Amino acid sequence: MTMAPVLYIVIPCYNEQEVLPVTAPLFLGKLNSLSEAGKISPDSRVLFVNDGSRDNTWDIICGLSGQDPHYLGISQSRNRGHQNAVLAGLLEARDRCDITISIDCDGQDDIDAMDRMVDCYLEGYDVVYGVRSSRETDSFFKRFTAQSFYKLLSAMGAEVVYNHADYRLMSARVLQEFANFHEVNLYLRGLVPLVGFKSTTVSYSRAERIAGESHYPLKKMLGLAVDGITSLSVKPLRLITSFGALVALISFIGCLWALITAICGKAVPGWASMTCIVCFVSGVQLVSLGIIGEYIGKIYLETKQRPRYIISARTENWDTEK
Ligand code: UDP
Ligand code: MG
Repeated sequence: MTMAPVLYIVIPCYNEQEVLPVTAPLFLGKLNSLSEAGKISPDSRVLFVNDGSRDNTWDIICGLSGQDPHYLGISQSRNRGHQNAVLAGLLEARDRCDITISIDCDGQDDIDAMDRMVDCYLEGYDVVYGVRSSRETDSFFKRFTAQSFYKLLSAMGAEVVYNHADYRLMSARVLQEFANFHEVNLYLRGLVPLVGFKSTTVSYSRAERIAGESHYPLKKMLGLAVDGITSLSVKPLRLITSFGALVALISFIGCLWALITAICGKAVPGWASMTCIVCFVSGVQLVSLGIIGEYIGKIYLETKQRPRYIISARTENWDTEK
């Protein structure tokens, strides 16, 4: 009989003092029930990544790890954002486990889907994406923006799993390969499919946040969308080129028309048409420059090769492991 795999549940936490005491026991309960069923090893752990919280989140994590050795925690030196926090947890876990499942700490993602994820792993899948089957609990606005975002991404040529957030199972072997993707502009959902390996999806319904507030207001969602597109695809640059060509063609026709009217002696003071053309073309140029600038900014950040995460503290039971 093969040994049951060691599972690490990786959970990013940012200012979650209201939620954590509620959801942490749920994660532990799930871990215990999976290991009692013999699906995972008793050495499995719940790993919290404190993302530079300004409230008591880290104290709560330390307290939990004192209560039960199945809780582990690492703390980032400052707030670096959700994607970096997940990355830190996954990379720190990868040499200690056989599988990881990343999930948010707010209880919105159904933890019962973990059973099916582990089953898929045991059947031979290396990546299992959690996919939301319905978005009824999200506001119409959130649903609409999120879905337009997925459509936009795939139209721009970035491969993403529809309605999949960062709730997924990844095997240690995938993580080892994933660690070789060195980009600092992180968009995990778009990167994981690029690593490849055998993958499948498991669907679950998404609940409301148990407590606290979402850290993804519209501004951050837009930021994530721009990052997702520009770090996975160069299609916007090509669109600029095509659009430029189209504008050039229209201008050419316009020039011909102007020339002919002038030759026929019908030219009238053309203030309105001039103004329109100038406004239009300068608008196009500014947008194009902005898009190019976005890419140059990304190149700038990549060339600096700054560390993607910095761990400033670990719970006391971290070193006694393995
Ligand atoms: N999070 C984080 N760093 C941040 C923002 C959020 O680690 O800068 C964590 C947060 O604690 C939660 C997860 O990322 O576990 C998702 O955040 P949230 O629930 O606010 O986003 P939503 O589910 O509304 O998209
Ligand atoms: Mg949430």
